[in-house]
Amino acid sequence: MGSFTRNPFDPLLQVSKDAYRCGKCMLCKYIDHNEMSDIRFLNICPPGTRYQYEAYFASGKQEIARGLLQGDIDYTDRLLHAIFTCTLCGGCQAVCSVAGDKNPLKTIVALREKAVREGMAPLPGHQAIFTSIENYDNPWQQPRSRRDAWARRLRVKDASREKVDILLFVGCTYAYNAAAQPAVRDLALLMSAAGLDFGILGREEPCCASPVLRIGDYEGFSRRAEANIRLLNSTGASRVVAPCSGCYSVLKEEYPDFGEEGFEVISAVELLAELLQEGRLEAGREVPRRVTYHDPCHLGRYCEVYDAPRELLSAIPGLELVEMPRRRENSWCCGSGGGVKTAFPELALWAAETRVREAESVGAEVLASACPWCESNLRDGSRGGMEVVSILSLLAESVGKEVF
Ligand code: SF4
Ligand code: SF4
Repeated sequence: MGSFTRNPFDPLLQVSKDAYRCGKCMLCKYIDHNEMSDIRFLNICPPGTRYQYEAYFASGKQEIARGLLQGDIDYTDRLLHAIFTCTLCGGCQAVCSVAGDKNPLKTIVALREKAVREGMAPLPGHQAIFTSIENYDNPWQQPRSRRDAWARRLRVKDASREKVDILLFVGCTYAYNAAAQPAVRDLALLMSAAGLDFGILGREEPCCASPVLRIGDYEGFSRRAEANIRLLNSTGASRVVAPCSGCYSVLKEEYPDFGEEGFEVISAVELLAELLQEGRLEAGREVPRRVTYHDPCHLGRYCEVYDAPRELLSAIPGLELVEMPRRRENSWCCGSGGGVKTAFPELALWAAETRVREAESVGAEVLASACPWCESNLRDGSRGGMEVVSILSLLAESVGKEVF
């Protein structure tokens, strides 16, 4: 038997109590049985369900944490695979029988941070993301000069030059991913139609650094978060709107640990639901489609934004909203989070295909979401079958683009 860690900075020490409290009840494998509506869709953990091995579930991660703390086990490729194939979806945290807060998830985050600090990570599959963010300030190896290309034909204010009420924090994926760009264009048009005074930072917009945090480089994230808060404060905007659920989650939940934010952080779906409620936008056109909604983990379980997207879809005339068996806090992750899409694309694709089958099971014609990462991965999973769209675009279709 090894000896308990003597390193006072070992991230696992912060979660050791949680690791030892895991009672191996195995509830972190399935959604709450009271919520069960279809026995085929009970699983909640993508890597555990895919690999059917204890180490891939949250319960196994608690065991790994105990083993590393006590010096009973050491890093191997299999161990690192188990730690980094977790999508950080938070499903285990939602159903854990003993956690009063985010315990299982905190253990997994600490395992990643420890692996990075001890030089065992980033994994080769994640290195490209780190290098790209370091060199280009985005994870997609795209030049800064193209960051505002999506907005070129729109008259959007430059918030780095003039003061605006609302800063639209576009995010790297909406800025560079051609399939995602129509949704953020639709959002900008809706904001214009509602008469909002808003702008973007364009080429000056930084990466929110969510991928850096999720892959375990806590120090790198803290440096970027501090710098980003200073930049966002300097715009003088009173609200920052984030359409990407990854950006939204770190801006809202993580950044406040690194500096005071002189602005309110709001997701795009919350803003649009507010505009509909105030009558500043009207969803007048029928969109006669049977739509189901996929809760992005970072919008739903991380920030508890469950109602606004549903209110928004329900406001569209002609649209029939049907729910999947796994929804809200019991949602099934699309599979792309936590760096999984980049380093383990086969697992990400399998999780997305599983979600598309669930959408088909309720007779949906359209799978809608509110996150460019989810939409991109689900599109891959649908293989050209089920239509995958952003709810931003569904609302724009109903409001009618001629009003812009
Ligand atoms: S966060 Fe999600 S993927 Fe990771 S162990 Fe928990 S349920 Fe599984
Ligand atoms: S639900 Fe919580 S206590 Fe139960 S096995 Fe999973 S992590 Fe451990």
